[in-house]
Formats: sequence, C-alpha cells, structure tokens
Amino acid sequence: SRAPRFHLNTYQTRDPRFNLNPYRTRDPWIHLKSYQDSSTTHIWFESVLSEIQITLNDLYFAIENLRTWMQPEYNIGKNLATRMDECFIRREPLGVVLIIGAWNYPLHLILLPLVAAIAAGNCVILKPSEICQATEQLLAELIPKYLSQDCYAVLCGGAEETKSLLKNRFDHIFYTGSQAVARSILLAAAPHLTPVTLELGGKSPCFIYGRIDIQKAARRLCWSKFFNTGQSCVAPDYVLCTVETRDALLPAIQETLLSFYGSDPGEGPDMGRIVTLRHWRRLVDMLRKSKGKVVIGGDSREEDKYIAPTVLVDVPEADSLMQEEIFGPILPILTIESLEEGIDYINRQEKPLALYVFSDESSVVSTVLNNTSSGGFCGNDGIVHMALPGLPFGGVGASGMGSYHGRWGFETFSHRRSCMNRSWLLEMVNVLRYPPYSEYNLGW
Ligand code: NAD
Repeated sequence: SRAPRFHLNTYQTRDPRFNLNPYRTRDPWIHLKSYQDSSTTHIWFESVLSEIQITLNDLYFAIENLRTWMQPEYNIGKNLATRMDECFIRREPLGVVLIIGAWNYPLHLILLPLVAAIAAGNCVILKPSEICQATEQLLAELIPKYLSQDCYAVLCGGAEETKSLLKNRFDHIFYTGSQAVARSILLAAAPHLTPVTLELGGKSPCFIYGRIDIQKAARRLCWSKFFNTGQSCVAPDYVLCTVETRDALLPAIQETLLSFYGSDPGEGPDMGRIVTLRHWRRLVDMLRKSKGKVVIGGDSREEDKYIAPTVLVDVPEADSLMQEEIFGPILPILTIESLEEGIDYINRQEKPLALYVFSDESSVVSTVLNNTSSGGFCGNDGIVHMALPGLPFGGVGASGMGSYHGRWGFETFSHRRSCMNRSWLLEMVNVLRYPPYSEYNLGW
C-alpha cells in the first residue's frame, strides 16, 4: 500500500540501481542513459525500457490500484422489484491460466500478463518463447525461486511442447504471437470451451498528412519503426502520404538516421540485430523479391544478422512487403492522393493492431480516427500508447481479441460474478409473480 505512483513519464522504481529519487529523476531518457555502462550497446537501453521498465510500471500500477479493482461493484441500476436487494459484481479468479509468449519482448510479454493473472488470483503456467533461450532459462530458474511452486510453473519448449501442453484443460489461455499459430490455439481451446485472449500482430499503418513539422515527424517515425530493429508488434509497418510529403520526408528520414545511428548503422552501437538467421532470411528475401525501389539503406550482412534501416518507395500492393507483417527495419512509403484514398486502402485490409496519424491538423487526426478501426490508435507518435497502463492494449479482428495492461489485464483474468442477495421484505410485490397465473389480467 505504500508503493509510489508510477507513470510512463516518470519511470521511478524502488530498485536502488535505478536511483529513483522521484524528485531528482523525472526524465527517463536522461536517467537511463546515465545508468548505461560504457561497455554496453544500445541493446541495454532498449531492453531496459521495453522489457524492465514497462513491466515495473505495470507491476507498481497494479500494486497501487489492486485494492480498488478488487472491490465488489455495488453501483448497479436497480428496478422496483429489486430495490430492497443487495446487487453486486464480484471479481473472482478464473483458475489455472496458461500464458504463451512471443520472442520479440520475451520478458515483458510473459511478465505483464503474469502480473495481471496473479493480481486476479489465478494459478499460472508460463510458456516463454523458445527462440530467446537465455530469457526462457532465466524465467525457468527464477520463477520457482521467488513464487510458490504450487501455483506458478514455467514450461520450456517450442511448438511440439506447447501442443502437448494445450491438450490439458485450462481456465483461460493468454496467447501472444502470430496469426497463423493463433488458429491452432483456438482449435486446441475449443474441446474444453476455454476462453482465449489473442495478442496478435498485423500491418500497422502510419499516415503522415497535411501541415506538419516534417523533421519532428521523421524523428518520431524512425524511433518507433527502428526501435528493437523494427521487431515490435506495434511498429509502424508502412507510411501513407502524398508525393509532396514523401519528397520532404525522405531527406528528413535520412538526416534522422544519421543522427540516431551514424553514417554506418551496422558499425555503431545503437542499431540492433535480427533475432535469428531464419527471421533474417525471411526479411532479406522480402527485400530481394520486392518490386519497390530502395531509397535509403538496403544493406544486409548474414554473419551478424544485420539489416540496415531501409526505406522503399513505389512498392506495389501485391508485393510481399505489403502482404505480410514486415517485423523488421524495412519501411515502405506508399503515396496517396487524398486522405480518403488512404482510409479506403486501410479499410480494405485486415484491422491492424495500431494505427498512427502524424499531422498538425487535428481534423486530419480525427477524420482517420473516426473512419477506421484498429486495436490501438496514436496521433503524432508511434508505439508509446502501449506503455500507459491506463489504456487497454489489444487487437481487434485479425490483430487479436481481448486486452490487458493495468486494470484491463486484471479484468481479463477475472470472472465478473453477478450476485444478488434478495431481501425478505416486500413480499406483496413478489406474490404478483406466483401461480396460479389465471388470477391475473395483464391487459395484453
Ligand atoms: P509464434 O506464433 O511463432 O510463437 C509464439 C508462441 O507460440 C511461442 O511461445 C511458440 O513456442 C508457440 N508456438 C509456435 N508454434 C506453435 C504451434 N504450432 N502450436 C502451439 N504453440 C506454438 O510468434 P512469434 O514469432 O514468437 O511472434 C511474432 C508475432 O507475434 C508477430 O506477428 C507479432 O506481431 C506478434 N506479437 C504480438 C504482440 C501483441 O502484444 N499483440 C506482441 C508481440 C508479438
């Protein structure tokens, strides 16, 4: 109950290594940079921000608010017949839940749902991604050390182990990963009628439209696209803008990349790598086969799984870059003649996990917001909306079902039990419903 308040813009934790005098370190970026060891690379900074701080944020938010979330809800609209009754909604645990994680944020995609599942009172089996073996092993080692082995377990392994695990009956399955595997998760859940939350991906579009400070837009776009080397489920997948905006945007992106990563991003410490050779090959293949024109970057190196921040123009709709979720540091820029054309294009695709609009004109932002659908929405920036525990995070349509973060995770892992304790009073009202019904004339 004495936990301090945590918000995205403060990143305060009680861990002394993160130094957290709330009155001294209000700026997470400056603070994290000062903590960085000179021998480490960008990976340290991006990992702390996207894996540790986001998890701590949600954890402290839950600690601070759990007492309120748990309270039975009495503010229920009643009618004449139930006026004297006690009516309330009670949040109860679902039972044993299974959490399956993806590799791109291997810690946070396991621990954030775990926080919510524990907050709601469930027992949990965790299945981290086998692709990040070090994190998988660390979780398998630490979870039994710090949490009750009667209630929490970690199972390591890939597709085969997960399929065997899914033969068991769970009270909820929380899955983060690809749309293809999500279908087999639903099939495995069906025989037991197990409810499922699916946190999937998709192609998240980014409009850059109308009056705009192009340099500022380029910085925010590049940060959200190339963070974690583009391997974020909410990374802007492609840009939609007019030819004029594109012509101004390209030099602005070039300048931004130079200031972020230096003249050779592959040699600098701030550009990450692709997770495995298999994922690297998929991306390089997409680039090689693309009919689009590479205007920035395009280099790749197999030995250290490097792909330069790459921008393409004139990418045809049928290109695999426009058919699959890219999930790497490759950014196609599509040109449109009007906002309506861009909205029509988006509405012809599956509903994305995130949708971004960069514009100085609020009417542009609201027109896109009002005429499209997506899991989340962020005006004038990318990714950051998912780090605020007050906002539900999840997809819609093909980008997923259900949500979590903050209270929304607690709700996902709770059953809302409708309860009514009837009063023994007002029996003269109750007698009206008892047979024999022939005594009543309802006037119908
Ligand atoms: P994936 O579907 O290959 O793997 C996810 C998990 O499923 C892993 O733990 C894996 O072991 C397990 N798995 C793999 N094949 C399986 C099978 N046949 N049966 C049962 N389980 C199986 O996904 P990925 O490659 O790890 O993650 C990338 C995808 O995840 C992208 O599409 C990305 O957009 C999405 N993603 C979504 C979010 C979100 O919060 N919405 C977050 C991160 C990633």
